[in-house]
Amino acid sequence: MKVLDLLCDADHRFEGWFASEEDFQSQMERALVQCPMCGSGDIRKGLSAPRLNLRASSAAPTSARQGKANEEEAAQAPRQDVSNRPQTLPAELQSQLQDAWLRAARHVIANTENVGERFAQEARRIHYGDAPERGIRGQASAEETAELLEEGIDVMPFVLPESAKETLQ
Ligand SMILES: [Zn+2]
Repeated sequence: MKVLDLLCDADHRFEGWFASEEDFQSQMERALVQCPMCGSGDIRKGLSAPRLNLRASSAAPTSARQGKANEEEAAQAPRQDVSNRPQTLPAELQSQLQDAWLRAARHVIANTENVGERFAQEARRIHYGDAPERGIRGQASAEETAELLEEGIDVMPFVLPESAKETLQ
């Protein structure tokens, strides 16, 4: 299942659910995708949210909404900036996003303790009060991550850019 962020030519934003990217393309070709608000068939893809889901609030200098720095706002602010150019990001914005990601990565590195392979174990100890409350980072398998989430322990998969590792580890 693929959830796409879509926009019509009147800039109505809505979600489209498709079996796959191919399914979306084929429905687009047959003009089956329509805006639920105005019925327009002139639909384009918005920037998908997950790509920006990295606490980038402080990294979006053009955002007028920096005061409310929750993650949802952060994820939405940049999307509006690019609503007219959904398919390919302009190079300038791409590098801005890369910068934002790098800053977020550095922030994570600077504010967390590296517990390496003991990540799952340590996350549990903190959750159950057996270790001091603090931010940690480390390696966990997909299985371990799923188990932690099942136990109600918040973990965030985050792939660090190589350059962030070089400068800070
Ligand atoms: Zn519309």
